[in-house]
Amino acid sequence: MDNMEQNSNRTFIHDYPNSNIITTIYYESGGKSHSRKYIIHSLGIYPSNVKKIKRTSKNCPEYEIPDNYKVETTLEGYDIICETNYSSNGTVKFILNWKDSQGIDRYISNNNSASGVGKDFLMLLNKKTRISGTILFGFDIPCLIEARKSILIPINRKNSFTALTSRSQQNKRIKLLAKDIERASQIILKQQNFDNTKIRYIELEIGDEIVGIDLSKVNLDFTRIRQDVVVCACDEALIPRDGYRHLAAISPNLEREYQISNRRNEISKYMETIIPIYNCKIELDNVQNNSNNSSNNFSNNNSVNSNFSLTNDQSGICSYRSIKDLLNTLIPIWKKKSILNIGDNIKLKFGGDGHIVTNKYSHVMFTMCLLNEGDEVLKPDKQYCILLYIGKEQYEKLSIAVSKFSNELDSLKSAGFIDQDNITWSIEFYFSGDWKLMALVKGLKAANSKYFCLFCECPKDSRGNLNLQWNISENKKGIEHPSLFPIIELDHWIPDELHVMLRITDVLMDCLFRDLMIDLNEFKKATKILIEKEMQRIGLTHFQFFESKSKGKSWDWTSLTGPDKLIMLQHFDDSFTDAEIDSFEVNAKNWIKLFCEPTIGKSNSINQKRGMFNPTDITPYMHIFVFHIPEFLRKLQHKGLNMRQFSTSSIEKKNHLHVKLFFGGTTMGGGNNNNNHSVLHDIMSFENRQLYYLINDTPRCIKQRIIRSNP
Ligand SMILES: [Zn+2]
Repeated sequence: MDNMEQNSNRTFIHDYPNSNIITTIYYESGGKSHSRKYIIHSLGIYPSNVKKIKRTSKNCPEYEIPDNYKVETTLEGYDIICETNYSSNGTVKFILNWKDSQGIDRYISNNNSASGVGKDFLMLLNKKTRISGTILFGFDIPCLIEARKSILIPINRKNSFTALTSRSQQNKRIKLLAKDIERASQIILKQQNFDNTKIRYIELEIGDEIVGIDLSKVNLDFTRIRQDVVVCACDEALIPRDGYRHLAAISPNLEREYQISNRRNEISKYMETIIPIYNCKIELDNVQNNSNNSSNNFSNNNSVNSNFSLTNDQSGICSYRSIKDLLNTLIPIWKKKSILNIGDNIKLKFGGDGHIVTNKYSHVMFTMCLLNEGDEVLKPDKQYCILLYIGKEQYEKLSIAVSKFSNELDSLKSAGFIDQDNITWSIEFYFSGDWKLMALVKGLKAANSKYFCLFCECPKDSRGNLNLQWNISENKKGIEHPSLFPIIELDHWIPDELHVMLRITDVLMDCLFRDLMIDLNEFKKATKILIEKEMQRIGLTHFQFFESKSKGKSWDWTSLTGPDKLIMLQHFDDSFTDAEIDSFEVNAKNWIKLFCEPTIGKSNSINQKRGMFNPTDITPYMHIFVFHIPEFLRKLQHKGLNMRQFSTSSIEKKNHLHVKLFFGGTTMGGGNNNNNHSVLHDIMSFENRQLYYLINDTPRCIKQRIIRSNP
């Protein structure tokens, strides 16, 4: 039912509050009538410091101006939304919003009067007409005035919030308000039939300040998970504490940085109850080390600058985790994901990498991964850190390091691992690393010594003799020290394919391309284009051949960087058939033959065949490539493994990341304040937290949607 109301000279037709549309009819003295439609978006309230409209004449009534009032009407053919807003100093802002003829959102405001903002709007349209602010905003609509007046006013009337000057008084009042809202909201939610719903966050706009009220403490579990998600996101996206602090300062919705730091520490502490982190020092007795301080004096790690300068005290620090603890945590996860099934052998691959931090010290890392995971092990987060130390990559230090977990290895080898469900798993061990590290942990002499090979007793000067056959065997002649991993079988030491390939790619490419250029015409016409096309296809778009300026009619090519070569080698497929492995072996040998072929014929004559290198120039990498890789390919294929899984690039990536994050002067570890842990302990904590996210399936995002109730 529509009501009719009248004040001085306007008639209102409405069914408020059932409908938010109000129509008014205005009669001129001549009898001509105008109508205006209002759509009420927000009723608004009369605040305690209410302002009244400026009177234009003595007889005109003084209407009060509501706060937070929002009404839609039309003016000069435009749909406009009129708003009022009281600011903290009590002045009223009158705002008009509309879409212009281009459909672009526009707004103007006026701090003086409603008529003023109307006038501003008309001036923008170049109109000389005027509009009464009272009529435009509908301050005189009786049903709205009545509705505002009927809003209950508390009996013991409080001071206006804005009149409160001390922050503690303000906070006290906000808390009272929060309680009231919480109580009232329970009734409203029930009326709207919302189950399992709570208000967890309210944002108030008080003048020009945003005040957030967090009601979520009633749900500790929700808060904890939310914080876990943030801690995890910071760890995964490598957001340092400072970075997060900046973000949180901008967005009041983000958890405070100290809360996140506290939660991070809680997670780290909890994880140390499951997987303790042990700290020690790796020092050689016969070396004069001026380590007169206690072994835990690392409090000034954050002074490590971007040049990674380390003091003597930091060399030799070491942190490690127990392999059995790691297995205890990981096996249930592997079982749940069916990566491990009863009856499987656990294939553990150990790896290592030394990343140079200064010209004196390296950050040396031992990792393990589960080869049963397949190609997943190529991701750095599937390589689990066992031990880290800062110091040289040298046998004596590696020996001390490995001694920290060699007892565990022995017992795992002999008795297997008994998990929480009382299942016994047998374990196979593998090792892979770059040449230097492999030679060191195997106790062998360096790659430039006479008996250089990691896998056989081939002497240096027989490297080019292709009539000899070298099978994987123990290199007793090259031994300098006892092997640090005696439990790992001979053919379980797998060369890192990428390292081998990288070292010989340059030579390979040079040989290949030079060979193709023997027929320069054919090269120019077809081969060059083919190769360039293929390089484009695999993503090396900048690769091209160009005519050499120095070498006459010869061609040069864009030299490839390390990462480029990796891209190229990724297309080196690993899943070979037996026949393919056989032909690989033949081809590799042919290639070496070609490589060693002496120069035949007169220089510069057409019949000249270029020889490239002497047999003694065959590098250790080429020897491995030709004599051992085919055998490894066969053996691994037999076990359902492939060489790619032994790539150390994921370990190198991890190591590089650690150095960048924790030695680069960021505050990633979260431990620079009030904790005297070493930087290595922080890295291990970081690693432990990765396992926490894995165990708890920490979500990578929070389900959230934001509905705007006001247009
Ligand atoms: Zn060999």
